[in-house]
Amino acid sequence: MKRLQVVGAGITGLLTALKLHKDYEITMIDLGNDPRMSQNLSGATYSGLDARHISFTETTPWTSQVRLDLIMKPSAEGGWLCIPKNKLTNFDKEWISQFKRAADNNKLHKENTLKVVELNKKGIEEWEKLAKEYDFLKPITDEIVMPIICRSKEDLLSEFDFESSLDSRCKLYENDKNNLDTTGYFTLYGKSYLIKTLSINLINYLESQGVNFRWNESYSKGKTDIIVWCSGVSPQASGILKRFNILFGGVVGCWVLVDNQGITEACKIYGPEPINYLNLTPYEDKLFISGGYGFVGTRIYSEAILLAQPIMEAMIRELKNWFPKVEIKEKAFCIRPATPTGVPILKRENLDTTPIIFAVGHCAGGFTQAPYTANEVAKEVSYLD
Ligand SMILES: Cc1cc2nc3c(=O)[nH]c(=O)nc-3n(C[C@H](O)[C@H](O)[C@H](O)COP(=O)(O)OP(=O)(O)OC[C@H]3O[C@@H](n4cnc5c(N)ncnc54)[C@H](O)[C@@H]3O)c2cc1C
Repeated sequence: MKRLQVVGAGITGLLTALKLHKDYEITMIDLGNDPRMSQNLSGATYSGLDARHISFTETTPWTSQVRLDLIMKPSAEGGWLCIPKNKLTNFDKEWISQFKRAADNNKLHKENTLKVVELNKKGIEEWEKLAKEYDFLKPITDEIVMPIICRSKEDLLSEFDFESSLDSRCKLYENDKNNLDTTGYFTLYGKSYLIKTLSINLINYLESQGVNFRWNESYSKGKTDIIVWCSGVSPQASGILKRFNILFGGVVGCWVLVDNQGITEACKIYGPEPINYLNLTPYEDKLFISGGYGFVGTRIYSEAILLAQPIMEAMIRELKNWFPKVEIKEKAFCIRPATPTGVPILKRENLDTTPIIFAVGHCAGGFTQAPYTANEVAKEVSYLD
């Protein structure tokens, strides 16, 4: 059996291993701790709170002309830049300049948006197949709609116009379903999952099938026939990726856990920058809420979360506009591995003499896309046989 080393045991790496474990001897290597034993803070899959949504616009590229200036506006002033301007490295500057190039080109932005929507739709189909095959990969509810709630009519119509042109399943409702003070909502096809729980079940299953996990380790050259690189943001990963002209940096997002505020189904509330959306996932008596964007380059987690405080503050302020008496039970930061355009990278190269397949930079839709990405990686691996 050929040996395959997967670098990064986030959702992308895990589903890749699930796809290939019958035909390859797989070793998974992850910089973070085993999430079953303690907290693993080094990747987007484990560092946030549990819940994630899938929908076809989850989430379209964040480059767009309206956001051109946001990337250089400090987060304390409502922008996305968490790093002080005088501390930007050449790497950060290159990322920002590629972001601006994509954001300033409407045609490119549209192309990128369609690419991401397509990936999301394919990811959703694959999640549906996985749920039929494995009980532990099921969503937490059977709902298949995701309401997007808007407070003003202007937001409602502009967001609906944008999303409905991407998928005919969008429907507009001009009333208030959740008893929030809103103008109305529209729905997308969408579901919600508990991603940490699901990933831990996946790790247990893969181990039972003979997959070997090495936690607390970063990639080092070893005996393997093929490398699959699904890492998140880390200085070492960035160094290797840069050798192959892959540029990605961390985009921080925030999570809070509160008591359920009477929300009966998962939904998204459209909001101001740097929040963009409040993602609400009710589960039993809990309500998980995520949102916010902030660029933190390749800073390690402990540094990134200090830089990202203004994003968390902005999210909590926005949350209190909706639920004035809400009490925050838990807070968490989570760093999405993102290319400047928001479009992930899948490509095959050689690292010295070993074939290496990169599947990185999924940003805000990485969970949605992961099973499709895993299939594409598997195809690339099969070309090497
Ligand atoms: C607030 C927030 C909300 C989100 N909500 C959604 C949502 O609703 N729907 C959705 O589809 N997506 C969502 N996402 C995005 C999604 O969580 C991520 O895109 C996805 O988890 C990325 O998975 P990954 O496996 O590609 O990367 P990661 O989860 O980042 O995993 C990569 C792994 O690589 C490891 N690593 C890094 N460097 C090295 C190295 N040198 N050697 C070895 N290992 C290394 C890390 O430890 C990490 O575990 C959200 C993200 C955030 C931040």
